[in-house]
Amino acid sequence: MKMFARQFNNSILHKLLVSRHFPMPQRLLSASVAEGNVVVVQEPNGGAPLKFPSVWLRDNCQCNCCFHKNTKSRQANWIRGNVESRIRNISGGHEEDVVAIDWFDDHKSVFKLDWLRDRDFAPTNRERYIEEVYKPSYQLWSKPDFPKVWRTFEFKDVMEKDGSFLQWLESLAVQGFSIIKNAPHDVTVARQLSDRIGFIKRTTYGEEFEVKSKENATNYAYLMSPLPLHTDLPYYEHQAGINLLHCYVQSLSHGGSNLLVDGFYVAERLRKEFPNFFEILLKTPVDWYDLGKDSGISFHNIWRSPMISLDVDGRYHRINENSMKRDSHFTIALEDVVPWYEAYDKFIELAYAETVEFKITPGEVFAFNNKRMLHGRTAYEDSPTNKRHLIGAYVDWDIIYSKIRILRSHKKKTKWN
Ligand SMILES: [Zn+2]
Repeated sequence: MKMFARQFNNSILHKLLVSRHFPMPQRLLSASVAEGNVVVVQEPNGGAPLKFPSVWLRDNCQCNCCFHKNTKSRQANWIRGNVESRIRNISGGHEEDVVAIDWFDDHKSVFKLDWLRDRDFAPTNRERYIEEVYKPSYQLWSKPDFPKVWRTFEFKDVMEKDGSFLQWLESLAVQGFSIIKNAPHDVTVARQLSDRIGFIKRTTYGEEFEVKSKENATNYAYLMSPLPLHTDLPYYEHQAGINLLHCYVQSLSHGGSNLLVDGFYVAERLRKEFPNFFEILLKTPVDWYDLGKDSGISFHNIWRSPMISLDVDGRYHRINENSMKRDSHFTIALEDVVPWYEAYDKFIELAYAETVEFKITPGEVFAFNNKRMLHGRTAYEDSPTNKRHLIGAYVDWDIIYSKIRILRSHKKKTKWN
């Protein structure tokens, strides 16, 4: 066995090739340090080399001192001054597919090839990780696309089969909505689905909420009037992620239909067709508020946020729209008010142009991404023998994405449907 041991020099590329056998074995893993303190790992079967800054390797040492395996936590505190982590000796072992590093501070690290490959800094690998593990990409849809993105699932399958359950959650993440059919005529359906994912998001209006016409309603949704396109709870910083609406009793009157539009698609149209308006809705904060009393509890919620929010990667994150919950307090500069209304007016025009209408029936659960979809309802009329009654619940995206990751990792290990 031949080991390399020489001082690391920043300016020269050192290539190390370690072979335990002679003649040449079939598989060889090489590891070297290139300019800029970057470790280059060449896989035995060729392909693009994997590259890692040495400071990152030192920070992510997997030994028992540096990493606590049970809690999957880094336990080494950051030691000031080791940004220039220096490597005395590096070797690739082809038998175990590992890269071993001796550091100048006498610490030793061993990294498995699989582990390194999974964390390679190449753009394609980072994109793969974001798509497969972090969050799958959205499929934005227009009004004509609606039949193509319509997904239905059986309640029993979602509750009992992990494969169907995962597909349902993925449809919420990707298309932004779906319908569950054949749920029992039971007031606990929304709770059962929430519990299957994790737990209900409690709000000012309680855990489950009933959408039905109420005398002395405390919320606009509790009237029979048409409900314009909106997102729920824009006045919360920690806004609910999805809305589960179980149709318990549907109105036999002409109305009571659901309105739905993909807010991200509308924002994308605005970005392409009216970029100035897009910028205004991205930058101008709006005061969303909710002031009232429900079940004896008084509340005054306010959240200042633009209509369109992007995430750190520039993807759509959240659309805020709710004309009922937009405050008359508008805490922006006087000269910014009229431009905002012009941009808002265009957004609403596009939103209604892309809106679809359908009417869910008893036993169906309409689930949608509340940070993305704008939803509404046409006016209806109750009669003494027919009172429209939906039961809703919210669940947070943190809980849903976590469940998607867990189900996907199980799927990788075992074949199931
Ligand atoms: Zn270590």
